[in-house]
Amino acid sequence: MSADGAGKFGGCCEILKDVLESDEFEPLIASDEDGVLYMSIGVVEAESEDDPNMVDHPLFFCPFCGTKLQTPEEVDAKGGGDKN
Ligand SMILES: [Zn+2]
Repeated sequence: MSADGAGKFGGCCEILKDVLESDEFEPLIASDEDGVLYMSIGVVEAESEDDPNMVDHPLFFCPFCGTKLQTPEEVDAKGGGDKN
C-alpha cells in the first residue's frame, strides 16, 4: 500500500509507520492531500450531520520518537494549519 504521504512520514520509527499504514484501524494521525501531517485532537458534535467532525491540528514532531517531521512554516506554505 502506498497512499500519498505515507511515504513521506513514517520514516522516523516503526510505530508512526505502522499507524500511517494500518489497515486494522482508522488512525487519528494522517497526512492530507497537501502533504501535511495532522493529528485528531478532539470531536465536535455537528448540528446538521449525523457524524461528529474531527478536530485536526498539524503535527510538528513525531509523538512516538520525537523526530521533527515538519515546521509551522512548511504547514503554512501548504495551506494547512486551519482546516476547521
Ligand atoms: Zn517517530
